[in-house]
Amino acid sequence: MIPVNEPLLDGKEKEYLVKCIETGWISSEGPFVKEFEEKFAIRVDRKFGIAVCNGTAAIDAAVTALDLGKGDEVIMPTFTIISSINQLVRNGVKPVLVDSDPLTWNIDVSKIAEKISAKTKAIMVVHIYGLPVDIDPILDLAKKHNLKVIEDAAEMLGQTYKGKKCGSFGDISIFSFYPNKHITTGEGGMIVTNDQKLAERCRSLRNLCFKPEKRFVHDELGWNLRMTNFQAGMGLAQLERLDEFVEKKRWIGAEYTKLLKGNKNFQIALPKTEYAENIYWVFGIVANEMEAETTMKKLTEKGIGTRPFFWPMHEQPVFNKKGLFLGEKYPVAENIARYGFYIPSGLAITKAQIEEVSAAVNQIFE
Ligand SMILES: *Cc1c(COP(=O)(O)O)cnc(C)c1O
Repeated sequence: MIPVNEPLLDGKEKEYLVKCIETGWISSEGPFVKEFEEKFAIRVDRKFGIAVCNGTAAIDAAVTALDLGKGDEVIMPTFTIISSINQLVRNGVKPVLVDSDPLTWNIDVSKIAEKISAKTKAIMVVHIYGLPVDIDPILDLAKKHNLKVIEDAAEMLGQTYKGKKCGSFGDISIFSFYPNKHITTGEGGMIVTNDQKLAERCRSLRNLCFKPEKRFVHDELGWNLRMTNFQAGMGLAQLERLDEFVEKKRWIGAEYTKLLKGNKNFQIALPKTEYAENIYWVFGIVANEMEAETTMKKLTEKGIGTRPFFWPMHEQPVFNKKGLFLGEKYPVAENIARYGFYIPSGLAITKAQIEEVSAAVNQIFE
């Protein structure tokens, strides 16, 4: 079986983990956490980094730190993972959805302006699968209408937009370190911002909103979202190799492109736009006619792991049951969700595996 993802852990991960055990520093109080936050923030051109237990938690804290709540509207793509929207819905925010661009699969930026109302408070940018969102027009809109911008850069560590680092845009950005992300800590996430107040607010939300002056008295409800010293040690070891990982991802993308681009029965991930080269968080394919469920079953039979594309937020039973997004239609997102899937693209993949996967895909789509 060729797994859909296998991480590379052959740097200093073991050394740093052993150090945690030998020194007894295993909790979030350990020294790797601060070091990881500082080095990570520098890496994405931000002033502050707040390490948390996963990427979803990072979004939950960021949304809450921005005081997005009842009566507010936040504009976001329908084609994303549920992590982007969870806390908005829990806080009583109305998510206002936008369809996708058929080539990059990112939010269709040309459709954002028409969704802005007097209640709009923020735009949630989610970079999807490997190409960054065209963010300049979004930042212009945000400035013009005085909106906050949250950047979900979970899939975009190491990527740039017009030469500027992903994760450096808007008021606050988040990353995930799940094993299929560009660097992994097993589970883990990071909030980054240049705004000291927002950073302090996120630190407080991460740590149960303990008050510095009177520890067990609380003015606000937080969570325990702390990252352990183990995770941060892994993160440091992985971060040391980020350039190499990005290069490998781009090599994987280039190999697949070479082997698959001749087949006219499907669309493959776009290699580049005018503002970025694909970083191939995953290598996505959208079939012309065969539904992803069928394709994926055929690939499983050939010993190849796959995942379906995201399922749009407006078609989620959990939200429809709450009366959200009823009757809304976003044809591009609906189409890529039904016909799109991704093939093995983890950092440990070999050339022989890429060739085997490509041959199988081409055979299925003969
Ligand atoms: C992975 C991912 C997340 C969630 O991160 P977890 O660490 O798995 O909670 C959020 N947003 C996007 C776009 C992601 O790809």
